Formats: sequence, structure tokens, C-alpha cells
Amino acid sequence: MRNSNNKEYALVTGGSRGIGRAVSLKLASMGYPVIINYNSNKEAAEQTLEEIKDVGGEAELMQCDVSKPDKITEALEQWSVMHPDGYISVLVNNAGIRMDNVMVLMDDAQWNNVINTNLNSFFYITRRVIKDMMMHRKGRVVNIASLSGLKGLPGQVNYSAAKAAIIGATKALALEVGPRRITVNAVAPGFIATDMTKGLDEEELKKSIPLGRFGTPDEVAEIVGFLASDKASYITGEVISVNGGLYT
Ligand code: NAP
Repeated sequence: MRNSNNKEYALVTGGSRGIGRAVSLKLASMGYPVIINYNSNKEAAEQTLEEIKDVGGEAELMQCDVSKPDKITEALEQWSVMHPDGYISVLVNNAGIRMDNVMVLMDDAQWNNVINTNLNSFFYITRRVIKDMMMHRKGRVVNIASLSGLKGLPGQVNYSAAKAAIIGATKALALEVGPRRITVNAVAPGFIATDMTKGLDEEELKKSIPLGRFGTPDEVAEIVGFLASDKASYITGEVISVNGGLYT
């Protein structure tokens, strides 16, 4: 499937829990050595690492707070030094947080933390990783956006802004790097059962979902795996919703 003198890796930001965990498992099952990025929950990261190894996959951990540009540079440089013959050919920008509040009450930290983690991380990581993809004329970038970035959700002006910006960036970057045979796509989940949605009123919310339930991380990981595969070689600049029909 993968041919190159350089070993190809997949980096999943926030690859330790929730959707990122499912994506890490999926990419590992496709044969990629997976770099599982996490921030603070080492136990969850180690658990995901073990799960991959238990089924014969290859993975490693990369601790790094993706909201901090200097930490990203440090982690990626360190990784390159440790893997002189490797490069990241699949990048899934998945790490994200939400800090909901109505905008009139939103403080600077709620705005900045969400923008830094969900949007600026995309810029700092992808800018670095895409250089190697361009050199190898091969790569896949998949950005995890959100229904919130497509339609806007009340209480999430910060999060909707970050996710809408990711969608714009996906489309623009796809045009920039298409000639180098790199595809850039976004996946926009609706309500997915993870720690992020744990506090929500699922019983009430699922009444508004045509398929009548929250989605699972695996259902998101399937499409990410497809977009990362050779089968998706002619798809770029797209935003694919995984939301049980909950668009309008
Ligand atoms: P989750 O269960 O809360 O997991 C978040 C993951 O991101 C964890 O691995 C966490 O690592 C990592 N992370 C958070 N902040 C980080 C930072 N500063 N640096 C590095 N890693 C960080 O979230 P999820 O529901 O799987 O969400 C994953 C993505 O899908 C996010 O971008 C989210 O916005 C998007 N999304 C989710 C839903 C949903 O319904 N769940 C819907 C639409 C979009 P630690 O544990 O180490 O902090």
C-alpha cells in the first residue's frame, strides 16, 4: 500500500481519547505506524497505545500541548531527530476542546483557549508537516471540523468560529497543495458520544437527530480512514458531515 524509501507515519492530534482514539486505531489497522498525540491524560494515551500494540499495530506517543506553538515545534523537531528515515504522510488535526458560554458572558480565556487549541494548532502543525509531504509529493491532511462550524450553535461562538475557520483553511490549503498530490479534507461530526459530549442532555438532543441517536467515534473514524487511504485520491477540499442527518 505504501511505497517509499522513507517510512510513512500517521499523526493524530488528540489521538488518545474519543474520536482521535478511534482514528488512531483505524489508521493502525490500515498499516500505518501511528503517532498518538495527547496533552495531559497520559493514562488514556498509554491505553490507546497498548490497544494498538495488542492487535499487532505500531504506535508511539507524542505528548504536546497543541495550543502552544513552541511546544509543537519542539515536539515535531524531536520526532524528526528520532526518525531520520521517516516522515508524516497522514495528518489528522483532531485535538479540540469546547468552553461554551453565551458570547455576552464569554471571557478572553474561553475565546483564546478554544481558538488556540482548535484552530491555531492546525496552522502551526500543518505548516511544519506539509513541508515533508510536499517534498515527497504525497500526503493526506484530514481536519476534524464540526456541525457547529457549518451552521453555528448558540453558546459556541468561539467554537463555531474556530471550526468554520478550519473549513475555510481546508479549502484554501487544498488548492495550494493539490499540485503536489496532497489532499486536504475536513470531516464535520454532529453529536458523537465522547467525553466532550458527556455533560449534554442526550435524551433531549437526540429527538432532533433524524437517525435518533448520537454517533460513535468509530463512525467518524471510518470516513477519516477512507480519506487517508489511496481510495480517496481524487477527493480534496471537501467537508464531509457525519451527523445522523442533523444539518438543518
Ligand atoms: P474528547 O473526547 O474530549 O478528546 C479530546 C482529545 O484531544 C484528547 O485526546 C485530548 O488529550 C486532546 N486534546 C485536548 N486539548 C489538547 C491540547 N491542547 N493538546 C493536545 N491534545 C489535546 O473530544 P472528542 O469528542 O473526541 O473530539 C475530538 C475532535 O472532534 C475535536 O476537534 C472536537 O471539536 C471534534 N468534534 C467532536 C464532536 C463530538 O460530538 N464529540 C462533534 C463535532 C466535532 P488529553 O486527554 O491529553 O487532554
